[in-house]
Amino acid sequence: MHVIVIGAGTGGMCLAHGLRRAGVSVAVYERDRTRTDNLYGYRVGIDSAGNRALRECLPPELFGTFLATCARAPRFFNVLTEKRRVTASFPLRPDDDPVNSERSVSRMTLRQVLLTGMEDVVHFGKEFTRYEQHGDGTVTAHFADGTSATGDLLVAADGTGSRVRRQYLPHAGIEDSGIVAISAKVPVTEETRALLTPEMFHGISSVFAPGGLFCIWHVMEFKWDRDGGLKHGVGGNERELIERWPGLLYDNTRDYINWGLSAAARKFPADVMRMDGKELIEVALGMTGSWHPDLRRLFALAEPETCFPVNIRTSVPVEPWPSTNVTLLGDAIHTMTPGQGVGANTALRDAMLLCRQLISGKQVLDAVAAYEREMIPYGFARVKDSLARMNGDAAIHKPVIGRAALAMTRAFFGVTDRVPALKRKFVDDLYTYRGADEHTSGGM
Ligand SMILES: Cc1cc2nc3c(=O)[nH]c(=O)nc-3n(C[C@H](O)[C@H](O)[C@H](O)COP(=O)(O)OP(=O)(O)OC[C@H]3O[C@@H](n4cnc5c(N)ncnc54)[C@H](O)[C@@H]3O)c2cc1C
Repeated sequence: MHVIVIGAGTGGMCLAHGLRRAGVSVAVYERDRTRTDNLYGYRVGIDSAGNRALRECLPPELFGTFLATCARAPRFFNVLTEKRRVTASFPLRPDDDPVNSERSVSRMTLRQVLLTGMEDVVHFGKEFTRYEQHGDGTVTAHFADGTSATGDLLVAADGTGSRVRRQYLPHAGIEDSGIVAISAKVPVTEETRALLTPEMFHGISSVFAPGGLFCIWHVMEFKWDRDGGLKHGVGGNERELIERWPGLLYDNTRDYINWGLSAAARKFPADVMRMDGKELIEVALGMTGSWHPDLRRLFALAEPETCFPVNIRTSVPVEPWPSTNVTLLGDAIHTMTPGQGVGANTALRDAMLLCRQLISGKQVLDAVAAYEREMIPYGFARVKDSLARMNGDAAIHKPVIGRAALAMTRAFFGVTDRVPALKRKFVDDLYTYRGADEHTSGGM
């Protein structure tokens, strides 16, 4: 069996590692020209489902490198007002379990970890254009440079704008969620650290504000310093794994505070998607005039070159389709809003499940059918949940009832924070949703 994967992103690379470890021939075709193209992005929260997939698919040492290159884990999940008053602060579990822990990884670093040791598998500069299925059960992928590749299975791991999906499931649409976000990074310095409360500095913080404005805050502190040398106190196995890891040569990630300000698209200037970093920072400041001055200072201190707008999109669930030798994973089939923070984790879960099915000894088509039977329901359930959390049509974005919706949201978090049984349940539910002790079929 030879598997062709389109896209060297989160899901595609996890699948490629798993197949290669199992001795299955696999080739990945990526449109980026080099390993260091497209190095944008901030924190990705890897939950239990994501950790489990990475541990199963990556070689053990590379999984160790993944753990060693994560930022320190958040200790609190905070809910605040725009005046920086704490509505709730939920303690998170320590990250001492390789699977059942919540981890913070920089998107750039995860990408470099996943590309490590795969030079013979990943082909850069290969922009997929179309595929052809042949009568003998093989499938050929064609690329913009005129070349092609033939295999027994074509896996679309080419993200939200998937060209494979557009040919294979032309009725599967992608829609705007009605939400736009502006995100940026602020370097961690003495000055910026002092602008956050200790709970914010050590946690993930959500600010709910009038007008349907929402801002998420993450602090990413790594084991290496600004020059890429290991920080004092990093020792033993982690020191060795990071020192031996060639990926750090391509990764310029340094400690940062990341903010993501979102609201209904109509709240932003009509040309927000065309604005540069400086203009976007001005927009963020203009929308948050009544916010706590320290939070506003962090908007102002963002590095303009790290600031970009995102038009948050979501897929429209489709009915199951007859399985063939073309299949899809991750955002290519179930793009979701970041509302639940599970897009990357669901892509990793798909990769693990598809890998298990393909190496189970089943015929290719039976393996694909078993994968799709399971992936389609959980994938689209995640799409629905994520849209419920981030939807421009939600009550919180409406002119009058929006105020009542904000008051109810704050009351919910306030009460949950004060009643110990509710607080415990909130944290337990968070981990359960994010895959703690989850069972995915086809396990060995
Ligand atoms: C603002 C924001 C915040 C997010 N936060 C989180 C979070 O906290 N937690 C979480 O789990 N998820 C988060 N996500 C989602 C997460 O980033 C994605 O869901 C995840 O990366 C999907 O993985 P993938 O493999 O499907 O696609 P990607 O990682 O996007 O990879 C697709 C790859 O395909 C390549 N490609 C595209 N077209 C072609 C082509 N024609 N030919 C060849 N190659 C092609 C691309 O260059 C890319 O390398 C967030 C997303 C956004 C927008």
